[in-house]
Amino acid sequence: MYYVGAHVSASGGVENAPLNAAEIGANAFALFTKNQRRWDAKPLTSKSIDAFKRNCEKHGFRADQILPHDSYLINLGHPEADALEKSRNAFIDEMQRCEQLGLTLLNFHPGSHLRKISETECLARIAESINLALDKTSDVTAVIENTAGQGSNLGCRFEQLAEIIDQVEDKSRVGVCLDTCHTFASGYDLRSTEACEATFADFARTVGFEYLRGMHINDSKAVLDSRVDRHHSLGQGEIGWAVFRYIMQDSRFEEIPLVLETIDPDIWAEEIQQLRRFSIGEMEVA
Ligand SMILES: [Zn+2]
Ligand SMILES: [Zn+2]
Repeated sequence: MYYVGAHVSASGGVENAPLNAAEIGANAFALFTKNQRRWDAKPLTSKSIDAFKRNCEKHGFRADQILPHDSYLINLGHPEADALEKSRNAFIDEMQRCEQLGLTLLNFHPGSHLRKISETECLARIAESINLALDKTSDVTAVIENTAGQGSNLGCRFEQLAEIIDQVEDKSRVGVCLDTCHTFASGYDLRSTEACEATFADFARTVGFEYLRGMHINDSKAVLDSRVDRHHSLGQGEIGWAVFRYIMQDSRFEEIPLVLETIDPDIWAEEIQQLRRFSIGEMEVA
């Protein structure tokens, strides 16, 4: 079964996210469990936690259909000790918030070396950050998102994801989220069935589908290998429909959250329906 949804708003409280997801016909969703542009956050109230769980249950969302995303401020590979510590503490807090909500996945961008330390050193710091967070929690899997490779962001090559995973002690609680826009922007072609086959074969070889715990489903405004992270609505960008047909026809992408982060929330419901039509073999775009 395919789990398809979008990164929905949690404004007014996390308990609103499952309601917003149900409204667009999703059976998966992503959310921020705190303001993603701020360091500090009030603890979740038990009222909010209870309402979140109740709304998830009511609309049929289980933990494996929900892919929370951490704050954009966190850099788990930060070159400076104080800033690294701040990021690590914030990440642990995010993991604990997920646990409180009964969630089992947390999606995050690996980190940036800011041109102050080597790539190898930064990847080792990221892995150590994951180890520390897994130590402080018991039920949440750290899901590393591949990046577009903007600036000094690591995680744009499959080899870098593998290098992080390699240094994580508990392999049962580390995974990967592939973002189609980031994959394409960092140089992996997805514009035809053949290109998808080659790209995902590379992923299978280098990382392994056993680590794939979610996908971000986005078209790209920027061209192949641009290293620019600009999402677009499905079929309207540089990637086109091929990869979305491919994903919805390949069982390796079932039973994980497939989350739209496309730019027009008004058409998320249509995009979800279109993806579902591909999964039942209707290959024309409606
Ligand atoms: Zn993404
Ligand atoms: Zn992005």
